[in-house]
Amino acid sequence: MPTLPPLLRYSIHQKNLWIVFVASIACFYASVTGYSMQAFFQTEIDDINKDQTASQRITQTWLPGAGVDAFPKFECAIDPFGFSPRWGEMKGDAQLNRKFCSINNNELGSPPKYDMAVLKKPLAELNQNLHSAANQEAVTSKLFYSTRYLGDYDLDSDEFVNTTHPALDMKMPAGSIVRAIAGGRVHDIANDPNGLGQYIVVEHRLPKNNERVFSIYGHLGSTSVSIGQEVKVGEMIGTVGTSGNTKLPHLHLQIDKDRGSLKHTPYVPAVDAKRTDVVRWTMHPVDFIDNY
Ligand SMILES: [Zn+2]
Repeated sequence: MPTLPPLLRYSIHQKNLWIVFVASIACFYASVTGYSMQAFFQTEIDDINKDQTASQRITQTWLPGAGVDAFPKFECAIDPFGFSPRWGEMKGDAQLNRKFCSINNNELGSPPKYDMAVLKKPLAELNQNLHSAANQEAVTSKLFYSTRYLGDYDLDSDEFVNTTHPALDMKMPAGSIVRAIAGGRVHDIANDPNGLGQYIVVEHRLPKNNERVFSIYGHLGSTSVSIGQEVKVGEMIGTVGTSGNTKLPHLHLQIDKDRGSLKHTPYVPAVDAKRTDVVRWTMHPVDFIDNY
């Protein structure tokens, strides 16, 4: 008998009132006769799940707070690549715009530090002495973090100057593997031809307070996960591309806070959005990765 009350609750949750009715009768019958109805109800539940589309089954995971214990572990946050081509040592568009597979291992280095003092150094000045290792490194960082959080589309830009871009753009060759920056569940995969192109939304729960946050990966060339899939930190989810509103391959990495909808869509600032509006709904991707 211990299995019947949960089954009854499940049926009510699923709004299958006829099962609720039958389950109530069965509870009564079973309590009188001692007969176990577990096998019967398990078959019914299997049939219901079979009839639901994948998205209906996933809807249950969108419910805030639902299945908190079962939600995939956040683990820790990492950057989505783990390395960068040494852009500062490459010359001309032909070298700078190669696909990932044509870049040799000895042209790759550690991901550059996100240091605004370096990122704001004028490119024109650095270009005057590109033989200097320090200048090459600076150019690598400037290109890798090509648009800073709330920055202008200008390699010399500061942060928090243009509220229309609530994310970080990272220049990587087309075909580079994009990794999930933390453990979570694939919440959505969609295509916005005029904006983020092919993009993935991964839902996370922060370890400290279970807060729901989303990492968004835009302008992808391909995706290799499906909606509802659990992802581990560092797991490949797609590749860098040029889909959507961009000409050059790069990853648009955006961290959204929960706006309370079951189905989360990437935050897009209003035309007249203030800095306070944008930081209310998004997080600085570098700070996020550093802090978690
Ligand atoms: Zn972007």
